[in-house]
Amino acid sequence: MYNEYKKHLDSTLNEIREAGLFKNERIIVSPQGAEIELNTGQKVLNFCSNNYLGLSNNKSLIAAAKSSLDDHGYGMSSVRFICGTTDLHKELEKKIAEFFNTEDTILYAACFDANGGVFEPLLSEEDAIISDSLNHASIIDGVRLCKAQRYRYQNADIEDLEKQLQLAQAQRFRLIVTDGVFSMDGNVAPLDRIFDLANKYNAMIMVDESHSAGVVGNTGRGITELYDLKGKIEIITGTLGKAFGGAIGGFTTGKKEITDLLRQRSRPYLFSNSIPPLVAAAGIRMIEMMTETNTLQDKLHRNSDYFISGMKKLGFDLKPTKSAICAVMLYDAKLSQEFAAKLLNEGIYVIGFYYPVVPKGQARIRVQLSAGHENEHLDKALKAFEKIGKELGVLK
Ligand SMILES: *Cc1c(COP(=O)(O)O)cnc(C)c1O
Repeated sequence: MYNEYKKHLDSTLNEIREAGLFKNERIIVSPQGAEIELNTGQKVLNFCSNNYLGLSNNKSLIAAAKSSLDDHGYGMSSVRFICGTTDLHKELEKKIAEFFNTEDTILYAACFDANGGVFEPLLSEEDAIISDSLNHASIIDGVRLCKAQRYRYQNADIEDLEKQLQLAQAQRFRLIVTDGVFSMDGNVAPLDRIFDLANKYNAMIMVDESHSAGVVGNTGRGITELYDLKGKIEIITGTLGKAFGGAIGGFTTGKKEITDLLRQRSRPYLFSNSIPPLVAAAGIRMIEMMTETNTLQDKLHRNSDYFISGMKKLGFDLKPTKSAICAVMLYDAKLSQEFAAKLLNEGIYVIGFYYPVVPKGQARIRVQLSAGHENEHLDKALKAFEKIGKELGVLK
């Protein structure tokens, strides 16, 4: 059998290559950070990680993780409800709830699992999920696993959301689902207006704060802080794999009865291993740091403002953003790849995205800012963008 199947796989892989969509992985031999070293020996400035607060290699988080190895060991060898819950897991859940001003939190191995396991236990065929068209793949997959009726609205389009909510009046319970920050443009969901519509049409709201937690809002509490809606959203999901230390782990935080039922019925929680204690220990330290001081959040906001205003002054065409994501629009797929390759030669590591990751004719380079960047890093990136922009005729 496998000989035939191998041919099938080879031809699929070739199709991917011929379409120019084959993903190659660059190999990093240093810790994750603003400056990284590749296995080619090349040292580059990193502008394409989700390391928004620069915590991936933070001394204090490493110390917390190391000391938990001595007092809590390495692995849990269990799911939470059998023998996979330590005091560290419970403390991190409590700390995340305090951070977002919610009632309780349930941890997962990843936010992909949090989103995969949130819908099916909570909603049934009598209910409705109204989902933004640009929501993350894990939300789309989670919705597929649930029997609720599905409605989709155009990205951040309030008029379309209202139309879908009217249609969804036929169902018993309604849940509007949106990413906080959309990762390709960096725009935020208009949560104030979504909240008004939820009240008008009797719906609940779920926000995935993966790209907004630690980033958006003066103290990094995400888009519920930005729109002054802390504690008013039923469900928030998020990741420990981006701003929050960047290791692994996800969570659902919100109303207590919701997390209570998820602990009983959510399949990725019931049937997949607990995060290791060292990740919980570092997570606790991370929330403490973000509560004790706002230094990292402030630095991220300063860095984002500095870079984005610098790029505008240079004359680049940027997508409107309220996050640490800056989409530099080039519109042409080939140009986006050439631009990114030339930037890498200048020591600036960014990725060019094109169809089908973004809509046809919307090719771009995505730059992600971090509190780990220093002014000299930002200036070097701006200079490189200017040089290559002129070289490739993007800038006059
Ligand atoms: C990254 C991301 C996820 C997945 O997070 P993991 O913890 O890496 O699984 C889920 N939702 C959104 C919106 C994301 O950006």
